Amino acid sequence: MLLLEERKQVIQYLRKMLTTHLTVGTGGNISIHNVEKNLLAVSPTSMDYFEMEPEDVVITTMDGEIVEGDRVPTSELSFHIALQNLRDDIHAVVHSHPIYSTTIACMNWEIPSVHYLVGFSGYKVPLAKYATYGTKELADNIVNAIGDNNAVLIANHGLLSVGKTIQSAYTTTEQIELVAQLYYQTKSLGDPVLLTKEQMDAVLAKFYPH
Ligand code: 13P
Ligand code: ZN
Repeated sequence: MLLLEERKQVIQYLRKMLTTHLTVGTGGNISIHNVEKNLLAVSPTSMDYFEMEPEDVVITTMDGEIVEGDRVPTSELSFHIALQNLRDDIHAVVHSHPIYSTTIACMNWEIPSVHYLVGFSGYKVPLAKYATYGTKELADNIVNAIGDNNAVLIANHGLLSVGKTIQSAYTTTEQIELVAQLYYQTKSLGDPVLLTKEQMDAVLAKFYPH
């Protein structure tokens, strides 16, 4: 069986997404790139995360051609493939529907530098324009929005995070959901005080030392 470790990680993190309330039902999906074999492990579509077994995870080429697995891959395969091919520092993609991030996405707002933890994404969390889930148009909108950031809000849909590893992409999802909750709460009280570019420069220099 190809990419057994990555298959297990896909399942482990999909389950974690449910137990840490970052999604409900079968919402969300994950892909992990094995650089050595240059293959992708992707979650199957619409399958209970606690019933999923390693053989249910689908293995594709970096063009999205299935090389192993009987299941239909996630409906969002096109944005996973597009992101995995977009930047050298992307080897894991986590898509979820967390409540606060999705609330902000339903306002069609970005998340600005309201708290230093937005640095898990970059200077902000940008917003990708709405398109029907599972379409090439949605993948294009996400690619157009992400820039150098590690997270993107998807309008009227949810959140996605990218990273070198599944651990870092998942951590970004968790931290950005916290920042989204803080943004929601501060907007409810009035106008939050945003960190300046210089203040965020200092945070990002500590997060990503050269
Ligand atoms: P899949 O079950 O096809 O991965 O779809 C879930 C989802 O979140 C679509 O955006
Ligand atoms: Zn979704």
